[in-house]
Amino acid sequence: MEYETIGKPPAETMAVKPNLPDLDAAKQGFQWADMYREISWLPGGYLNQAHECIDRHVEAGNGDKTAMIWVGKNGEEERYTFADMKRETAKFANVLEGLGVQHGERVFIFMERLPELYFAFFGVLKHGAVVGPLFSAFGPDPVRDRMEDSGARVLITQPDLRKRIAEVLPDLPALEHTIIVNKNNRSSEPLEPGDLSYESLMAGASDEYDTAATSMYDYSVIHYTSGTTGKPKGAAHRHLAVVQQYATGKWVLDFHPEDLYWCTADPGWVTGTSYGMFAPWSNGVTQLIYEGGFGASAWYQMIEKYGVTVWYTAPTAVRMLMKAGEELPGRFDLSSLRHINSVGEPLNPEAVIWGTKVFDQPIHDNWWQTETGAIMVANYPAMDVRPGSMGRPIPGIEVAILDNDYNPLPPGNEGYLAVRPGWPSMFHTYWNNQPMYNTKFHKGWYISGDQSRMDEDGYVWFVGRADDVINTAGHLVGPFEVESVLIEHPAVAEAAAIGVPDDLAMEVVKGFVALKDGFEPSEELRREILGHGRQRLQAIAPRSIEFRASLPKTRSGKIMRRLLKAEELGLPLGDTSTLEDD
Ligand code: ATP
Ligand code: MG
Repeated sequence: MEYETIGKPPAETMAVKPNLPDLDAAKQGFQWADMYREISWLPGGYLNQAHECIDRHVEAGNGDKTAMIWVGKNGEEERYTFADMKRETAKFANVLEGLGVQHGERVFIFMERLPELYFAFFGVLKHGAVVGPLFSAFGPDPVRDRMEDSGARVLITQPDLRKRIAEVLPDLPALEHTIIVNKNNRSSEPLEPGDLSYESLMAGASDEYDTAATSMYDYSVIHYTSGTTGKPKGAAHRHLAVVQQYATGKWVLDFHPEDLYWCTADPGWVTGTSYGMFAPWSNGVTQLIYEGGFGASAWYQMIEKYGVTVWYTAPTAVRMLMKAGEELPGRFDLSSLRHINSVGEPLNPEAVIWGTKVFDQPIHDNWWQTETGAIMVANYPAMDVRPGSMGRPIPGIEVAILDNDYNPLPPGNEGYLAVRPGWPSMFHTYWNNQPMYNTKFHKGWYISGDQSRMDEDGYVWFVGRADDVINTAGHLVGPFEVESVLIEHPAVAEAAAIGVPDDLAMEVVKGFVALKDGFEPSEELRREILGHGRQRLQAIAPRSIEFRASLPKTRSGKIMRRLLKAEELGLPLGDTSTLEDD
């Protein structure tokens, strides 16, 4: 078959040589044990992610290298070296020790992207406890649900966030200590009775700490999933995950020592920890951390000012940048960017190609989940991109497309996207829900819950989440295909497709669209978009289009098709704890 392709020059001619010049060659005989030799272990064969990401660089003589450039929401800037990180995390580990926190106990972090979030995070790991990251925009209920489910003993937060969730703190019997970070004295209010001051605890803590001798199988992070398809589940990860986080940082994000890396994901979601902490720092790379939220100009300015070379973002952000127009990026010097990546949702071909116009390179889509802990399928700097494809599996990972009986299908067929268990960053359980974990495995495969197709060259194409696939007159339709066509229309910024019941066809496709700035809904535009869909999609085209000011999304930026469907059918909305407010 012929595919639309964005070609790449031969690897040896690229100005910065890709770490993975030839995927097929790298896969030959690859074993994860090969990678074990590239990371550094603690004496006795122990493994700790804090040691891998921080202390080992100091021990190797790179303590003076900048680990983090932090830019606050008011433009403040702070810089920390790996040596600074080692000291601050050692202090926090000592603080936990002083509070009597035991290895394996859960410590939750509910903070904005402040340097102290990162110190606390790695301090918890250094101490051998388990971190639970919480997205800072959560309200009281999502915070209570997660902390209750995992029996958190300590919470680290900020004055304003503590106020927001105050009502639920008494409901958490396992919670013993609330530590308040008052960054640069932003708050002048006294602490609530019983709360502890981060600054006072740290001032009295020693900056020497012997990293806990955690085994590679010990839990390190519990990440709750995004809640796109239902109630979020607590995926428990282990220190061993760092092996794959390191490897994919090298192969997929293509980290080189001189890189300046920016990951726009919040550490409350798995991309913000696996790729906003573990991958870059295990590779010893300097990263930019921006406390502020999305803003097209502000983001372009960050890239220009700091000379970002490697960038990891998400389709929603890309679509918002597209919405802001092609003229805006021309006002900034974005020439430092060498490699751009996206994850979290389907990246429409239109968006991949937009990258070539605005950044002179395609946006590299890759696929993984909270459960997989690290990237599984990817586009690489030295591999041709087929817009709309998530790329090919990384070395050491076996991916298959399975039929309804969980047997592998030949290339070209749509089915369940599955992975052979045993990859290093694989989740080990859903916290308090082993039965749910067990339902994810069939005939020796981990079933991801996504539907895909693999072409004859091993590129994987996303079809939809298994729950979202539409059955119209015997055709199985992936919403992604329909949505990608809808957003090609010049007026459409975002699109979602669902199936609605139909007497004849079982289901027919309905599209929801949000328009780009400067376009207004009208009957004429509706007909035009329907016509565009019909021309491109024929039998599987949407029969109706509804305009929306915006589409319902999770706080991690994913379109919640199940909500559109429930609204359409007048059904209960289900778990909406991660729904973004408008
Ligand atoms: P929940 O499991 O609670 O419903 P979630 O699946 O959205 O939430 P995450 O683990 O954050 O939680 O998201 C992983 C999912 O995101 C994948 O299973 C897939 O559906 C989608 N996804 C991730 N990357 C891509 C991609 N490159 N293309 C298409 N979909 C993607
Ligand atoms: Mg999921």
